[in-house]
Amino acid sequence: MLKSCACGYTMKLILRTVIHAHKVSIANVPVYSCENCSRNEVFPGVKEDLGRLIGRFGSKPEPDRIRFDEVHELAGVLRHLLERKLPLQASEVARRTEERTNELLDLLLVADSLGDEKWKAELKCRLAQLSAQYIA
Ligand SMILES: [Zn+2]
Repeated sequence: MLKSCACGYTMKLILRTVIHAHKVSIANVPVYSCENCSRNEVFPGVKEDLGRLIGRFGSKPEPDRIRFDEVHELAGVLRHLLERKLPLQASEVARRTEERTNELLDLLLVADSLGDEKWKAELKCRLAQLSAQYIA
């Protein structure tokens, strides 16, 4: 998962903490980072969801700490790979994404058999987060 930077160097995909309005710390946000010029870019596949999350806090938020890997499935996939010391390569990301998608689909079956509409809606939202990376 590499991207070229405006300075000509290669940007690496990493997870970093983003601070919003000096108050809210959001850990494990997927970001492309350049070691040469220190430029950072939020990974396109999570940009919209991160924006929505920050939007909920407004411009004068109460201090808070959030783990983005717990609210966003794609960040969860990357965190899973890093915890196992696996490289953040497209092939590894695709493999874990498929595995996680299957886990969520299994849960969706359970939620469906229980008739739990709220849980079903949450699972569908999480499944959409995993497919969003391909749109980016
Ligand atoms: Zn650069």
